[in-house]
Amino acid sequence: MRTDDVRRLDLGTFVRPAEETGTGQPRVEAVYGYVVRTPGGVLLLDTGMGEVDAETEAWYRPRRVPLDAALRRAGLTPEEVSLVVNCHLHFDHIGANPRFAGRPLFCQRREMETARSGDYTVPALLDFVGATYELLDGETEIAAHVHVVPTPGHVDGHQSVVVVCEDGSVVLAGQAHDTASQWSADALADQAAGLGHEEPLPEPSPWMSRVLAFDPRRVVFAHDAAVWTP
Ligand SMILES: [Zn+2]
Repeated sequence: MRTDDVRRLDLGTFVRPAEETGTGQPRVEAVYGYVVRTPGGVLLLDTGMGEVDAETEAWYRPRRVPLDAALRRAGLTPEEVSLVVNCHLHFDHIGANPRFAGRPLFCQRREMETARSGDYTVPALLDFVGATYELLDGETEIAAHVHVVPTPGHVDGHQSVVVVCEDGSVVLAGQAHDTASQWSADALADQAAGLGHEEPLPEPSPWMSRVLAFDPRRVVFAHDAAVWTP
């Protein structure tokens, strides 16, 4: 497995209304999943935007790319996917989870508890016939060379995936940060003291040093086409 084997899936776009962007303008945002053939089978991170209530549809105006079509473009079929990870359980990350009845879906236990407490996501996308969630308590190697690492921030139960390849590792960050630029600032905050800077300094995310310990060649995101490289 090589870092170039990690493929991005275009799962669609939505329009964040001006009321939420702070710029006075609406903003078009993308939704990306990722696939890679690992020694333990094909891994998929996130399954796209689910159907939501009419009010949310009208607010975000989603344009969905069906997961099957996105996988096909990557030369894969849903049947070939053997491991599914959700970075978290908001509707824009679990849309095609029901497609994977009977196959393991990995999320943090804490995230599942939040999602089931209500008013958080689309319940039908979460609990369907054959849903087989593997609930993780913290960092876990879910398959050979595939590490799930908690990356709380966007939500408490957020997690990212680190794929350790022959030529380095790739971090599938999900929504650990919305953009590569935010990741970049957080990574520098983590390194600031080591670079010789003195207080006052920004507080890095508590997980950043753990993720950077994998020495990633690149970090990819759920809502940003930009890629972080060291
Ligand atoms: Zn999202």
